[in-house]
Amino acid sequence: MKKIYFTVGPSQIFPTVPKHLLRAIKHDIPSLSHRGAEFKEIFKNTTGGLKKLLNIPADFQIFFVSSALECMERIIQGTCQKTSFHIITGSFGKAWANYAKDLGKNAITFIVDNKDPVKISNIEVPKEAEIICITQNDTSTGFWIPISEIVKLKKKYQEKLLAIDVVSSVPYVDIDFKYVDIAFFSVQKGFGLPAGLGVLIVNPKVLQKTQQLLDQKKMIGSYHSLKNLSEKAMIFQTPETPNVLNIYLLNQVLQDMLKTGIGKIRKATEVKANTLYSFFENHQEFEAFIKHRQFRSPTTIVIDVKGQSETIRKRLAKKGFVLGAGYGDNKVNHLRIANFPAHQLKDIKSMLRHI
Ligand SMILES: *Cc1c(COP(=O)(O)O)cnc(C)c1O
Repeated sequence: MKKIYFTVGPSQIFPTVPKHLLRAIKHDIPSLSHRGAEFKEIFKNTTGGLKKLLNIPADFQIFFVSSALECMERIIQGTCQKTSFHIITGSFGKAWANYAKDLGKNAITFIVDNKDPVKISNIEVPKEAEIICITQNDTSTGFWIPISEIVKLKKKYQEKLLAIDVVSSVPYVDIDFKYVDIAFFSVQKGFGLPAGLGVLIVNPKVLQKTQQLLDQKKMIGSYHSLKNLSEKAMIFQTPETPNVLNIYLLNQVLQDMLKTGIGKIRKATEVKANTLYSFFENHQEFEAFIKHRQFRSPTTIVIDVKGQSETIRKRLAKKGFVLGAGYGDNKVNHLRIANFPAHQLKDIKSMLRHI
């Protein structure tokens, strides 16, 4: 039986990936030198495609690393001398703050309560914080922070850097890069690719801060410091031998998405999200974990199924639908359902029939 993965990451692969994989083998992509002209062309096209699809300004740089967690560490290492500030809506935000602490930083946290969430733009950021770290869509809880709130917050703290984790909301999330200095994601969620590739997007202010730290003889990391990544990206390369195959596949999927058009992809995501949330709003027993609609993620839907997560997931697995369990302590109480571009409305409808 062909399975459909509604897990939040890794997830269902994008429908064109098998075709692109075959083509990659045929064209010897895994054997290409990462210093050669063919790889540089792939690098250039992939970053160009990302800029087009996500509306990233020309002066931003895009780096390829190994994962989203790596991005969290590189950002702290490369931009924060002493103090970082973290807005936490779930386990991924918490992890980011913990990595900052591991790196010896004073990581100040603000925990947003799901039941009684504050307006994000009203959060007081401490004076000493150099960077504001926000998990825009926390996959552990399905808590979504509207970009408009992030923009309002940044307007109040223009002098601080602002970094957002958009791992499970790209390409749906429409980021206003005028008010975001750093964004990052990995490719096994919304892009429907194999895991093992992180994408880090930074503006010139970020690189200025890195240089400042370096001038003060601070540690900013080694082969994957923002400075090394930037210098190599300028010549369409990476410091190490990268995941060339996955960068190639990302480029192919980006081209497919550009052909469809981001507007159409976003609209389809909303239609599917509405189908999912309405189903559970009308359910006798189960309900969305996030109480306030404005904070409900359109891309990672978390449902409180009152301890029946395993039973439901087992039943659905027999029909070929693989759903995510709750995160951590919520393993048995929650179902997590991905709504990425690879997921089809008709499959969501037939999956829901078995719940
Ligand atoms: C999955 C996820 C990560 C971690 O991604 P990796 O590629 O495993 O490093 C980080 N943040 C969020 C919000 C995620 O969903």
